[in-house]
Amino acid sequence: MVKYTKKITPDRNSIMGPKKKAARKRKPEVEEKGSEVEEEIGGEEPEEKGRKRKDKKRGENKYIGAHVSISGGIWKAVGDCLAMGGRSFALFLGSQRSWQRPPLNSTAAEKFRKACGENGFDPVHILPHGSYLMNCGSPKQDVFEKSQALLVDELSRCSALGLCLFNLHPGASLGSITTEQCQEKIAQSINHALQQTPAVVTVLENMCGQGSTVGGQFSELRGIIDKVRDQSRVGVCLDTCHAFAAGYDLSAKGGVKSVLDEFDQVVGLSYLRAVHLNDSKGKLGCHLDRHEDIGHGQIGIPAFRDIVNEPRLDNIPLILETPGR
Ligand SMILES: [Zn+2]
Ligand SMILES: [Zn+2]
Repeated sequence: MVKYTKKITPDRNSIMGPKKKAARKRKPEVEEKGSEVEEEIGGEEPEEKGRKRKDKKRGENKYIGAHVSISGGIWKAVGDCLAMGGRSFALFLGSQRSWQRPPLNSTAAEKFRKACGENGFDPVHILPHGSYLMNCGSPKQDVFEKSQALLVDELSRCSALGLCLFNLHPGASLGSITTEQCQEKIAQSINHALQQTPAVVTVLENMCGQGSTVGGQFSELRGIIDKVRDQSRVGVCLDTCHAFAAGYDLSAKGGVKSVLDEFDQVVGLSYLRAVHLNDSKGKLGCHLDRHEDIGHGQIGIPAFRDIVNEPRLDNIPLILETPGR
């Protein structure tokens, strides 16, 4: 992870903006690294001054970061992100193994909010990832109920942490209900959770179409969104590995543009709240969720170059979930 963040993540200093004092102090160092970013990913030759300036300006709207650990305290995630030069980050809000979690410590929440504020992280660039235990579309009543309760708990934690987005895997039908029925249950869980918690937006992640998971096709995400009552509080996170594994060919020439066009037609770009930047170990349409480091998989560097140069992906978190070597 570090390897790639070094290469493709704009240095934190270059993106802090005018209100961050710490950033301004270290400005010269930033500019150097900013150019390095353009060379690595954009492949631009920084010969002309005008060109260089234009490229840098374009990069200002890209919020690249990574999924960071919360071990040792949730507020430490902010420091981890800064250490790798990230401008956005993802994190878990608790254990991935347990349905019952100890309540969020108010001091820890306060420290987290303070760290975000002091370092200029806008909540729209922080994307908590939901527990893998959740299946909000489960046909099993006990799992469905536990998932509903966990979703409410996760959204409450977001509120306490001052966050406004929450990323979840939609769910799976387990083959015993139809996709439509599964979508209905997922929307029902979201509607229930939105009623219990103020303001947080639930962000559905596209899946790779493995097994009975719902959300591999954009139309399946649209099907869930259609059933959510408050559509201002539902969005989508586009995972590049999942999309590719589901059959959306990001690796083709112009693939990024055409996949985004299709997303816009089927779901609507206004729902796109984040991207997970992952290369794919598996081939196009393999339906396998196997993340690979950027440029080491089947999607390849040209697609990621197009992604970081795509204006429709401005101002949203672009999160690396790659294994890192
Ligand atoms: Zn995910
Ligand atoms: Zn993902």
